[in-house]
Amino acid sequence: MKRTKECKWYQFCPIKRYYEKGLINVEWVRDYCHGTKKCVRYIMEERGEPHPDWMMPDGTLDLNLRLTIRDF
Ligand code: SF4
Repeated sequence: MKRTKECKWYQFCPIKRYYEKGLINVEWVRDYCHGTKKCVRYIMEERGEPHPDWMMPDGTLDLNLRLTIRDF
């Protein structure tokens, strides 16, 4: 499914928090959360599959982010 508006999970997604704190580039939010790129987090959420907060929309695990967000 292609999305052309805000992802239904955006308000609750850790990617939103990371972006607002300046921890990740705008491209993630632009291309996935408000764009049409297929998001691995979205797919896993729909399937009810657990996934870590530091998993990026393309499915990569950002270990630096994992360390940074410990204090969130
Ligand atoms: S990262 Fe994926 S699941 Fe989260 S708001 Fe963006 S598109 Fe939706």
